[in-house]
Amino acid sequence: MPYRTVGSHLLRPPTEVLTRGYDPALSVGSARPAVFRSSTYVFSTPEAAERAFAVALGKVRPEPAENVELIYSRLNHPNAEILENQIVPLEPGAREAAVFNSGMAAIMTAFLSFLRHGDTLVYTLPAYGGTIHLIHDFIEPLGMRAVGVPAGQGAALDEAIRKARNLRVVFIETPANPTMVMTDIARAAGVAAEHPDRPLLLVDNTFLGPAFQHPLLLGADLVLYSATKYLSGFSDMLAGVALAKDPALIEKLLAHRIMFGNILQPDECWMLDGRLPTVSLRMNRQSKNAQRIAERLVEHPKVVKVHYPTLFDDADQIKIRLAQCAFPGAMFSMELKGGRQGAFSFLRGLKVAHNAVSLGGVETLACHPRTTTHSGMSEEELELCGVTDALVRVSVGIEDWRDLLADFEQALEAA
Ligand SMILES: *Cc1c(COP(=O)(O)O)cnc(C)c1O
Repeated sequence: MPYRTVGSHLLRPPTEVLTRGYDPALSVGSARPAVFRSSTYVFSTPEAAERAFAVALGKVRPEPAENVELIYSRLNHPNAEILENQIVPLEPGAREAAVFNSGMAAIMTAFLSFLRHGDTLVYTLPAYGGTIHLIHDFIEPLGMRAVGVPAGQGAALDEAIRKARNLRVVFIETPANPTMVMTDIARAAGVAAEHPDRPLLLVDNTFLGPAFQHPLLLGADLVLYSATKYLSGFSDMLAGVALAKDPALIEKLLAHRIMFGNILQPDECWMLDGRLPTVSLRMNRQSKNAQRIAERLVEHPKVVKVHYPTLFDDADQIKIRLAQCAFPGAMFSMELKGGRQGAFSFLRGLKVAHNAVSLGGVETLACHPRTTTHSGMSEEELELCGVTDALVRVSVGIEDWRDLLADFEQALEAA
């Protein structure tokens, strides 16, 4: 749906996210959306029911202004419609969205919608641990070929894409979790566009989106989110989102979502909807905090290396960051002296930050990826991607950065 206007003035995303996609008249005048917890919907007439099913099954297309009646909440419900409508302006280039009951549900539905037996998937490593599991333990056994390429090796990714046969999907997670190594989205889009199979480019934008990185403007076809993280922002719910330029891609996901039953439930839609207007505010504060902290910790004698976008030393990585990221974001990882023991005693010593997996919440969290989030990767993959025993990953929240820095410094002293 295109952005709305006031006269000839085009409304910008922070306004759009608050005002579109919701009609108070449909909720007894409530200024904010109500929650519609019904599992089923009453039809006005049997003819309206027949029409609604014909549209839902894709037998007919609705007329432009037609009011197609709701059927049953696994198919669709008002809170999902409102959320999908309101989230679109947050992702530049997007025209349609689909919401899922977790980030993994969004990724799984995308893979199963666009890959068939005998097809090839090219993906970057390291990636979110759950995504790696999904590829190795489910997608590959179904008969799809999966080719992993270490992030940061642009030429190797080009070659993997060019050489692949029956290539349907290129999946990029950038920056890579937990090493923050970046993949050039525009470059991958260019190489994919030249491939005779015209594969789709999918980007997991959880770490820097929707505030700081806009894959659809760089040539990606589909953007995927774990909305559990920054989009919801309070570590109190699970959700996933897919957004695309081409509405046909979202329609395909929705057809599968109906079968899989993994639509986001009304209460969660309502919660996430209320968090959208503050995503950019929160992410900006979190990014500023992280930058101040990371740039100081790099000087600490117990810290061997800090992986953070403004601290990149590789020329190619710096070029990618400048081209595709507005701000460095709130995730960093660091290698500590003393290997696993050094990392564990740092985590034990934290007094403000918590030792927990997940990220993107207003509170600061730290974890040891090799033994937790990434423990499903093989030794070979771990070494290849730099997920070392000494590595600690930090998700910075909105606390006062000076308090967080003091906490990290005292935990490092104790380590
Ligand atoms: C958390 C996460 C996921 C999975 O999302 P869930 O909401 O936990 O299912 C996928 N990708 C990235 C980058 C993540 O951080």
